[in-house]
Amino acid sequence: MINIVLFGKPGAGKGTQAEFLKEKYNLVHISTGDIFRFNIKNETELGKAAQVYINRGDLVPDSLTIKMLESEVNKNTEASGFLFDGFPRTEAQAIALDNFLKTKDWQITATIALDADDTVLVERILERGKTSGRADDQDEVKIRNRYAEYNEKTAPLIDFYKKQNKFYAVNGIGTITEVTERLGSVIEKL
Ligand code: AMP
Repeated sequence: MINIVLFGKPGAGKGTQAEFLKEKYNLVHISTGDIFRFNIKNETELGKAAQVYINRGDLVPDSLTIKMLESEVNKNTEASGFLFDGFPRTEAQAIALDNFLKTKDWQITATIALDADDTVLVERILERGKTSGRADDQDEVKIRNRYAEYNEKTAPLIDFYKKQNKFYAVNGIGTITEVTERLGSVIEKL
């Protein structure tokens, strides 16, 4: 079983790359952002609770996010591996994930970051916002807030995974195929 955390700032290309990697390595792709958006669209209780945070560009509270993630994993216990996209984003989430996987005798195999410069990323998100319909993609103040959240709460996870010898990074700038190949060369050595 391989369980991979795809790591990177908003706009780094996690969702795009996940689409290729899940096919190539037969992984169940879990994007917490996509699940939140699905719940908002369908006006579920979870969607209503998460919407206010997402629209501001804030992280959704850990309690809600962790519970949702665990229930998604539990829907796929026959999986040969998972690709976590956008989770964990805080140290509390990373600890909860380790503990939860341990209850199943599973663990994270590797965390792979897509590196890219902030200025390139903000441009990419604004461009995506023209078609994604996402409120948090269309306003530079909200986008900057997502980066502030990343720097404060998510960046410390780099050290968290380095301490476990599970952190890898690839250059996230290039064509989609080039980046998929870079990720693949890390995965194939695991
Ligand atoms: P994403 O599509 O991954 O950029 O996520 C969009 C938004 O969903 C984020 O800005 C957060 O508000 C929320 N979100 C997604 N994943 C998480 C997470 N692991 N923890 C907290 N909030 C999250």
